[in-house]
Amino acid sequence: MEKKKLWLRIWERILKNRWVNDAFGPKVDIQMRMCRMIFVIGAVGLLLDALYNIFAMHQYSMNAVFPLIGVAFLIAAFWASRKIQDGKTVFFAMLILSNSVLFPGAFLCGGGAESGNPMWMFLGLVLVFLLLDGWRFALVALTSTASILASYVLSEVRPDLLTPLQNRHLVRMDSVFCLLVVAVIVGLLFRFQNALYRRQCELSEQRSQELEDSINSKNLFFANMSHEIRTPINTIIGLNEMILREDVSDEVAENAINIQNASKILLAVINDILDLSKIESGKMDIVPTQYETANMFSDMVNIIWVRAMEKKLEFKIDIDEDIPSMLYGDEVRIKQVLTNILTNAVKYTEKGSVTLSVKGKQMDHNTISLKISVEDTGIGIRKESLKDLFSVFKRVDQSRTKKIEGTGLGLSIAKQLVEMMGGTITVDSIYQKGSCFTVRLDQKIVDDTPIGSMQRVVRKGVKDRNSYQQRFEAPDARVLVVDDNEMNLMVACKLLRSTKVQVDTAVSGKQCLDMTKEKYYHVILMDHMMPDMDGEETLHKLRSRTEGYCQKTPVIALTANVMANANEIYQEKGFEGYLAKPISSSLLEATLQKFLPQELLEFSEQEVETEGEMEISSMIFHKKKKKIAISADSLCDIPWQWREKYDIKLMHYYVVTDEGRFVDNQELSLEDLLDYINKGGSAISRCASAEEYETFFSDRLMEADSVIHIAAASGVGNSFNYAQQAAEGFDNVRVVDSGQLTCGMTFLILKAAELVQAGHDADEICASLQKYKEKICTTFLLKTTESMYRNKRIGKRANQLAHVLNLRPVIAMRHNKITLGGVLTGRGKAEKKYIHSALRRSGSINGSLLLIAHAGCSVKELEWIKTEVAKIKKFETVRVQKTSSVISSNCGAGCFALIYQRK
Ligand code: ADP
Repeated sequence: MEKKKLWLRIWERILKNRWVNDAFGPKVDIQMRMCRMIFVIGAVGLLLDALYNIFAMHQYSMNAVFPLIGVAFLIAAFWASRKIQDGKTVFFAMLILSNSVLFPGAFLCGGGAESGNPMWMFLGLVLVFLLLDGWRFALVALTSTASILASYVLSEVRPDLLTPLQNRHLVRMDSVFCLLVVAVIVGLLFRFQNALYRRQCELSEQRSQELEDSINSKNLFFANMSHEIRTPINTIIGLNEMILREDVSDEVAENAINIQNASKILLAVINDILDLSKIESGKMDIVPTQYETANMFSDMVNIIWVRAMEKKLEFKIDIDEDIPSMLYGDEVRIKQVLTNILTNAVKYTEKGSVTLSVKGKQMDHNTISLKISVEDTGIGIRKESLKDLFSVFKRVDQSRTKKIEGTGLGLSIAKQLVEMMGGTITVDSIYQKGSCFTVRLDQKIVDDTPIGSMQRVVRKGVKDRNSYQQRFEAPDARVLVVDDNEMNLMVACKLLRSTKVQVDTAVSGKQCLDMTKEKYYHVILMDHMMPDMDGEETLHKLRSRTEGYCQKTPVIALTANVMANANEIYQEKGFEGYLAKPISSSLLEATLQKFLPQELLEFSEQEVETEGEMEISSMIFHKKKKKIAISADSLCDIPWQWREKYDIKLMHYYVVTDEGRFVDNQELSLEDLLDYINKGGSAISRCASAEEYETFFSDRLMEADSVIHIAAASGVGNSFNYAQQAAEGFDNVRVVDSGQLTCGMTFLILKAAELVQAGHDADEICASLQKYKEKICTTFLLKTTESMYRNKRIGKRANQLAHVLNLRPVIAMRHNKITLGGVLTGRGKAEKKYIHSALRRSGSINGSLLLIAHAGCSVKELEWIKTEVAKIKKFETVRVQKTSSVISSNCGAGCFALIYQRK
């Protein structure tokens, strides 16, 4: 042990020596170190050989001279290796000299094959393999082999040229001595190389550990930084929002909007940096869950189209309607990737359009390969920049992009995320024309029902988004906000001010526990990271204690470290949900709306739908051409949900009043029309012209291969004739005579849509509809005969008489003509009689669906109708629908109809 230590000490001393360190230290190339080691060992070996020859063998001739020449040669080589930097040249020169001159010379002069000299030749050849490569290796290996062969051949052919050793004893001693020296040299060489190899391994391990430590500390630094930065941004965004909510001057509002935008950019940069450091440290996990495909795309569309609209860009959406409605994958990360490339597309496009298209290809029964492309008509990317596009912090074509905010992190993160999900991201671009980014990803199918038209889902998304703006008030609700940062508490209080919620604050977990001993709160918002007792610990103490209140109160975590699957993580910890800082006021309100007792919430009525509907019209939806499109005349009174579900297009009618002509349902609302009629105005309906039908049909044929149009009954007005005339101009438009009162047409439309979905062809559908018509029952109860008089169906006298007698006409359809189905009388009783007579053969009625169409009936009246109906016949679905303006103009206010089908 002691000895070893001494050994080590001596070794360390030697290594510390400047001269040794310069010749063999770690800074010297590994091959050079080895070579120098050979020079030293070789020189020592040869010197011993010479001394042995001189003193032991008393050989003073060539046998002693050649080893001494060898020693001199090796010393010279050592010296040269210190002077000449290029090691290869030194090795090359040394080996050429030794293998082609020195060793063959020693061989010839020192006893030939029988002496120890062949061992030196062997060593020379081994060194060629160890020290040289490339052309040098080939050349020296060749010349060395040639020299060895030549030496042997010469010793055989011209033995007279050979200087033999003097006796057998000398021969044996020489060969044994050389063998031992060369064996030691080769053995030491291997040892040395092994030691070097081990040292190199240790060094590289040490370096990679240092590198990992430095990456980890960098990542920790980023994580801490982003947490620290998020907290003040929370204050900035929150307080700035308060300014925006106030009635401030335009200039202040403009400044506040700029602050808001800048804070959002800062936040995005921090999120990117955090993501990147997570990816680099291998802490970014892909967390697959089930997700609704349509909702995912709709969420993204909702984020992007506002930005596209602000820049007056067209936003086109072309999402394959056959994509499965529920998939399995990391929805959060897919959204992150697509949001990045969509945001870039808008950012780097000044005019034109951005198109999001999604195609799906089924790989096997439970996997679909999604191809998601984002195409823009923007600045495009130079060909030579494409290779740098996905590199970290690389912003290409700086001269054109420097005015556009960005860090060059987004695409790099996107690429790494896509690859972690097993997909690819590629880009195609034409400089100055635009770019197309394509993401290909395989996802597992959970439900293969096709998503259908995205238009409906996106519309819903817009409504949902707007509904967050809908304020609720809850003056009796009590909320406790717990955060160690006073600024955060102030922001939360201010953000909640408009809701009139009673907000208390606590600056620590302990204070929260104290306060909840005294008072009950409906919801607690709790910061996760607090000194002393963090949010998690506070929550567990709150839940497990027996005294005080709030053991069951929903607790929402507030966090500045947002993770991909934050919701699940916080729920696992026992929180009911989480809110990311900076707190978004709309999300805060939405969360409270969800967790506060519903009876405490007071809503203010706000009409947000129309806004959403208008905005949505700036998006362009691409649709796959359908086989068959169903259309109908607008007076069919189909509820809008079905109209959208089956994508039914309606041909407009006109309402003609003394004031002018209006397009039905579009230019004149039902309420305004009824008001106008009630004030004594007159209105009649007119169908569109044959030319207008032609245009309508050709538009439909852009969407589908053929069209089935369900027209108003041929015996009523001209619409059927005009539609028929127009259809003759096309091969593939079929017009079906509904033979129904307007509201009965809905049943025909639903039937047609059902048959289309079942895959029937247009002729089969038309034939089925002809039969099905017989089953539909519709009649209309009018309030008065006034509209009949207005439409010149009865004279003035008859009308006056009907008024006096309080007669209520029932309109029905017979032989394709509108006829009087009966007259009922009795104030209040007529409705009851009508319902009873309409449903009198209840046994033969199909109970799946009842439509109640009405013009201007009150909610109370409608409820009464439903109750009366229920007394006679139970229907699975009862749908109430306002009639079109056309019907209101024809039948007048207060009319209603029951529509059902016979078994
Ligand atoms: P940035 O934050 O700069 O947008 P990204 O990583 O998202 O960072 O993009 C890297 C670079 O790629 C951008 O700076 C831009 O030069 C280029 N780029 C990305 N998308 C587009 C696009 N749709 N059109 C033109 N250039 C683009």
